[in-house]
Amino acid sequence: MSNTFILNGKETPLKPDQMILEAARNGGIEIPTLCYLKGATPTGACRICLVEVKGARSLMAACSTPVSQGMEVFTDSTLVHQARKLNVELLLSSGKHNCMTCEANGNCRLQDLAYFYKITTPRFEESEQKYPTEDENPFIVRDFSRCILCGRCVQACNELVVNRAISLGYRGSESKVVTGGDGPYNDSECVFCGQCVEVCPVGALTEKKAKGLGRPWETQKIRTTCPYCGVGCQQLLHVKDGKIIKVTAVEDAQPNQGRLCVKGRFAYDFIYSEERLKTPLIREKNGEFREASWDEALDLVATKFKEIIKKDGPDAIAGVSCARSINEDSYQMQKLFRAVIGTNNIDHCART
Ligand code: SF4
Ligand code: SF4
Repeated sequence: MSNTFILNGKETPLKPDQMILEAARNGGIEIPTLCYLKGATPTGACRICLVEVKGARSLMAACSTPVSQGMEVFTDSTLVHQARKLNVELLLSSGKHNCMTCEANGNCRLQDLAYFYKITTPRFEESEQKYPTEDENPFIVRDFSRCILCGRCVQACNELVVNRAISLGYRGSESKVVTGGDGPYNDSECVFCGQCVEVCPVGALTEKKAKGLGRPWETQKIRTTCPYCGVGCQQLLHVKDGKIIKVTAVEDAQPNQGRLCVKGRFAYDFIYSEERLKTPLIREKNGEFREASWDEALDLVATKFKEIIKKDGPDAIAGVSCARSINEDSYQMQKLFRAVIGTNNIDHCART
């Protein structure tokens, strides 16, 4: 007999160890979430994915309640929507959610939920800002007044990228996402991979360099492969007026599965650097560089190689190919060294 449960009156398949949320999504029913993070331990912290389970004494968090054979689940009842709306209102009152000036405007799950539930005026009084915004490092702005304490950043840091730089600290209304010792990211174990920013569902964690440069609906998202190393992480360039304003990871794509390192996410400024070399440079006898054509530079290298081979043999030369090169270029480089120059002294700078 196949495993099924009843989802909004319809028999729906389930898999062993599945939570209601996953089984419902597989069955084509979307349940809203704020704290749920794929690949991490479900916490049920935000209470937005509440559903009715027949026979249960209270509403259950779909992300952290296992589904079982014959269970009857309702995701769309009046009770469910009343509870979700109340929780959205409470979250809106938990800080300063003034969308007009928020970097996440247009890319905020709390905003989407407030819109869905037609919440025009907050029912509860706004809490006072307890912790000042942290703006001390070059990459990430931490605005605690917009934090809804969903814990996604903590889970991403601890369970997805395993840097273990942040955790949930203090208690009750004093709760806060903290580094070890509750100092700024700069003085912590943080490696600035930006995974916490990637998963933050609101505007509490944002890219500092992107501030004020463009709204989500103004940018074009272009998928590409990170140029830095041979891993080949998939990323999205957020481009406005022909210029990259920020970089995010492609969710679920191999090999990085939605993750990026500090270079892939934040170090794209070199593209626009005035100091980029645009022509080959040849060092003169006096030590100064002068610009040269590609033909002249390549002829010089070939002549020098020939001189070295004639004098000391091909093994006097070694090649190290660049980590940014594509496979085809690296292949050609080893062919050049093995077949043309005649040495096996060829390696790759990112070999581990
Ligand atoms: S930037 Fe990376 S290491 Fe630093 S807190 Fe965020 S997820 Fe953790
Ligand atoms: S900073 Fe963002 S991801 Fe982290 S707990 Fe606050 S709202 Fe959630």
